[in-house]
Amino acid sequence: MTDNAPTKNNFILQIIRDDLASGKHDVITTRFPPEPNGFLHIGHVKSICLNFGVANEFGGACHLRFDDTNPTAEKQDYVNSIKEDVEWLGFKWAGEVRYASHYFDQLYAWAIKLIKQGDAYVDLQTPEQIREHRGGFGKPSVESPQRNASIEENLARFDDMKNGKYQEGEAVLRAKIDMNHANMNMRDPIIYRVMFAHHHQTGDEWCIYPMYDYAHPLSDAIENITHSLCTLEFEDHRPFYNWVVDKVGFVKPPHQYEFSRLNIERTLTSKRKLKRLVDMGVVSGWDDPRMPTVAGMRRRGYPAAGLRDFCERLGTSKAEGLVDFRQLEFSVRNALENTTARGMAVLRPLKVTIKNFEEAVADFEHLKKQTVKARLDDGVLWLSQPKHPSMDMGEREIPFTKQIYIDKTDFEVNPPAGYKRLSPQNNEIRLRNSYILKVEDHVTNDAGEVVELLATIDPKTLGNNPEGRKVKGVIHWVSATHGVDAVVRVYDHLLLEDDEANTQIMLSEKDMLDVDTDADTLWIKQHLNPQSLIVYQAVVEPSLADVAVGDRFQFEREGYFVADSVEFTKQLPVYNQIVSLKDGF
Ligand code: ATP
Ligand code: MG
Repeated sequence: MTDNAPTKNNFILQIIRDDLASGKHDVITTRFPPEPNGFLHIGHVKSICLNFGVANEFGGACHLRFDDTNPTAEKQDYVNSIKEDVEWLGFKWAGEVRYASHYFDQLYAWAIKLIKQGDAYVDLQTPEQIREHRGGFGKPSVESPQRNASIEENLARFDDMKNGKYQEGEAVLRAKIDMNHANMNMRDPIIYRVMFAHHHQTGDEWCIYPMYDYAHPLSDAIENITHSLCTLEFEDHRPFYNWVVDKVGFVKPPHQYEFSRLNIERTLTSKRKLKRLVDMGVVSGWDDPRMPTVAGMRRRGYPAAGLRDFCERLGTSKAEGLVDFRQLEFSVRNALENTTARGMAVLRPLKVTIKNFEEAVADFEHLKKQTVKARLDDGVLWLSQPKHPSMDMGEREIPFTKQIYIDKTDFEVNPPAGYKRLSPQNNEIRLRNSYILKVEDHVTNDAGEVVELLATIDPKTLGNNPEGRKVKGVIHWVSATHGVDAVVRVYDHLLLEDDEANTQIMLSEKDMLDVDTDADTLWIKQHLNPQSLIVYQAVVEPSLADVAVGDRFQFEREGYFVADSVEFTKQLPVYNQIVSLKDGF
């Protein structure tokens, strides 16, 4: 990880430069092709940044196309969320949103063309027989009894398929390639199946639907996609991709290039598993701030710029691996550093009563440092401070009062070695933006817990160093009488640890009809981190409450936070932790 600006280079950019230089292409067209069967996640962000980034880099176009060939898993809600997410990430697709389903007539016509060329046939075997007869793993393949049926028979059967004369599983259309091909994907893959399902775009018009592997390359070809970028698990599908565009007759077909998918430690990048989390109710929804979905990360407060920076730094290659989560946090922090106002929030309030408050602040005007701006009003000393140390974001007024809160963790009766904050032995500390505080005594409850500190302030230390002694350490604080009660949510990973299973589920689930939901549920239960959410009843300085939903801040010494887009109100502010101030190195 470096601070250097990410370099714009990867093997795909190089291929495109070569294609432009050789005159193979004049205009570059890419596409982002999600299936609307869930919300987009961080893995998709990588694909989006790559596809749109490549198009932008070369003045080309990037399409947004829904690969909507599996109506039972897809929904209009998902279509809407995906569009919103891509826009939020800062990308603009060329032209209208596209749908593979808008090409269904064309895809059907080409299926008939394939049948007429002798390149496709209707198979009447059961799904089990088809699977069995594919062979592999030492077993020889077995040709379907219908493999050599006449073109007329196949045309009639395909027509019957289309007209609903076959039930689901009774007939499929298969490409006729080679039942002994070394690549299993070339052993007469299924290209159409019967499905009596309502489709979010085409309604009840069809009861046969093309398979992804058939629809995808042809959709690319229809849209004049030049570089079809996808993840490595589709490498074995490329021969069929090329076969189908060739058989249909495209002379300048698109070319598929594969890159490695993004896997991040302790992070699920599978829509199916993420949907399971939602369905199990272990998160509040697809936009739960702990979810690695775009909607979740947005609500969590990750800036789009941070996500784009992360993807650019990752680069694009064919190397598989698990990315350190701290790389993502690094980019998020970078994007927040100069864009967020500062403020003080006490997450674990411990009351401090300043016994000499009235006398100490009475003469603040004469004793403070010249540059300190403050005003005394009705027993409250209002301290002016810039909202950001170096960026021009204006000022905020912080009320300083006789009773304040500091964080419980900033006072220890029996401090561990090296403890730099308050204790009975080391009882002086700087209150950030304010005076030096001296703890005179502490009050405990029946359980022995410290419930209040009794303290004094040194009147000459507003902006000035104390005389005749060194005071180390600065802590944050909030007025107990003028602060605002707030809910602060701090997050950890949803998953406990990585293991084999986490990488296995990353495999593509395209066209998977028999998903083992129980196995997913069990896996999630075993790997769920019980500490992924901690809720604090906090108190914040007033400037942090007088804000808009979605505003982001740095709570000094605590981290970056966002005003929650769903639950925040000025009366009861709710904040989500975006990221801690420093990584856990
Ligand atoms: P999931 O398994 O989560 O459903 P998918 O690959 O089936 O993912 P699609 O909606 O079909 O999801 O994906 C759209 C595009 O996003 C594809 O080109 C796919 O390769 C890419 N993509 C999906 N996951 C990742 C990932 N983890 N890293 C990079 N690209 C990804
Ligand atoms: Mg999928």
